[in-house]
Amino acid sequence: MAEPELVDVVVVGLGVGGEEVAGRLAEAGLSVVGVERDLVGGECPYWGCIPSKMMIRAANALAEARRVDGLAGSAQVRADWAPVAKRIREEATDTWNDRAAVDRFTGKGGRFLRGSGRLDGPGRVRVGDQVFQARRGIVLGTGTRPSIPPIDGLAGTPYWTNHQAIEVAELPATLLIIGGGAIGLELAQVFARFGVGVTVLEASGRVLALEEPESSEVAAAALRADGVEIATEVKIERVGHDDDTFTVYAAGDRSFSAEKLLVVTGRRAHLDELGLDTVGVDATQRYLPVDDRMHVTDGIWAVGDVTGEGAFTHIAMYQASIVVADVLDRARRAEGGPDASGTASVVGGAMGAASAVGGSMGAAGPSGAAGTVPRADYRALPRVTFTDPEVGAVGLTERQARERGINVQVGFTELSSSTRGWIHGGEPGGFIKVIADADQGVLIGATSVGPAGGEVLSALVVAVHAAVPVSQLRHMIYAYPTFHRAIQSALNDLS
Ligand SMILES: Cc1cc2nc3c(=O)[nH]c(=O)nc-3n(C[C@H](O)[C@H](O)[C@H](O)COP(=O)(O)OP(=O)(O)OC[C@H]3O[C@@H](n4cnc5c(N)ncnc54)[C@H](O)[C@@H]3O)c2cc1C
Repeated sequence: MAEPELVDVVVVGLGVGGEEVAGRLAEAGLSVVGVERDLVGGECPYWGCIPSKMMIRAANALAEARRVDGLAGSAQVRADWAPVAKRIREEATDTWNDRAAVDRFTGKGGRFLRGSGRLDGPGRVRVGDQVFQARRGIVLGTGTRPSIPPIDGLAGTPYWTNHQAIEVAELPATLLIIGGGAIGLELAQVFARFGVGVTVLEASGRVLALEEPESSEVAAAALRADGVEIATEVKIERVGHDDDTFTVYAAGDRSFSAEKLLVVTGRRAHLDELGLDTVGVDATQRYLPVDDRMHVTDGIWAVGDVTGEGAFTHIAMYQASIVVADVLDRARRAEGGPDASGTASVVGGAMGAASAVGGSMGAAGPSGAAGTVPRADYRALPRVTFTDPEVGAVGLTERQARERGINVQVGFTELSSSTRGWIHGGEPGGFIKVIADADQGVLIGATSVGPAGGEVLSALVVAVHAAVPVSQLRHMIYAYPTFHRAIQSALNDLS
């Protein structure tokens, strides 16, 4: 067996979260080995957030042009997918090549290894024949993969996941989408606006089932206006496929056919591949539970989707900043230096390079808050579904708040009753809904649906995050005539 090589930190999985941790620790002077088996950057830049938002930008341009009629004259629009596919290929993904990302990491002083990393006992990671002993710690940022339901007949067919949907160069005439969550709806609207006949199949009674029921109604109406068929309560029994047609058979003699089938029914962590048993961690769990500083167990941290705290890039980045602060704080203390509140100390790395840990992060530590390493707090977790209209939400829904036994107050206003909403016109609709804890006098959740629903959300995130008293929020000055001014109407409706 190969002799383990001593390094400071090994990061397994260089998606958004792992890349951020590995890069910042390397920049701070630690000897960092970053292990990635696919593309550095992970799902977000190659098959997730960025290319999907490029698609949405293009689809929204088409929709806006189609709104010229009746508002500003007339416009003839001819949709063409070629520039969208070209932009994704050339600008977003460099034809699914991570050369630039690898250079970015090694440019910060990190050492990159292409391969699959696996725990190999306390402090050790194995990558092929190489074994590393990490004296400062191991960070797991291994993300998730699509969760494919065990539907009879599905395995072995050429169904799409988000990968094929993002990589598509020529659009099919028709598309079935299994899954009416955020990703399913975003892609459904994009493809429909480019002329694809799209049908969304949702198992529950409504799309966007985790959000407020009002959000589901507006999103479903908007998609139907774009020509998307939405079928709810679809209990799929079987999938059939022949040369150029997929057929989905569901309970109650329902069936749906299309040229392509996209499955977007959630994501799943693959813990069984990580060697967790060698460090005494249960690998049969759905996700890797972490404490509020992202510890899995002694010397092991996790970041991003694999933690199950929310499958969002902003969660991965948020958690990454906590891990970086914690690892550096422990490194300083191990060297006898001050904790995160003190000045940067010099830690001689295992590679022998005497390096200033802390560096540009300065005396206050990476959080900017002197004295402590920050702890994760998900109360004000924002989430945005980038349909048109956008569905933004933060904190608890009304139902979640009631289930927790909170003394709930609800305020609601239609965007169309605000001046800006009325000027904008009926399409595509929207509202603001705020959920308050009546005993505390603060907002604990909110939803903002509208043409800029995700941007309007930011004010509500601040309100929930900082627990700003509702009485103060009511007496702020909201610019006229903005979409966000509707927040004041929703607050005045709290009852
Ligand atoms: C279509 C789509 C749209 C999305 N849109 C948004 C959005 O608008 N906003 C948003 O916030 N989020 C969005 N997301 C979610 C976002 O992409 C994820 O939350 C984010 O990528 C999570 O980052 P991560 O670092 O946890 O994991 P990932 O990005 O999944 O990266 C994990 C990496 O680990 C590697 N890996 C796994 N196991 C090993 C191993 N044993 N050894 C070596 N490497 C390994 C994988 O190859 C992968 O590169 C979207 C996702 C999808 C699919």
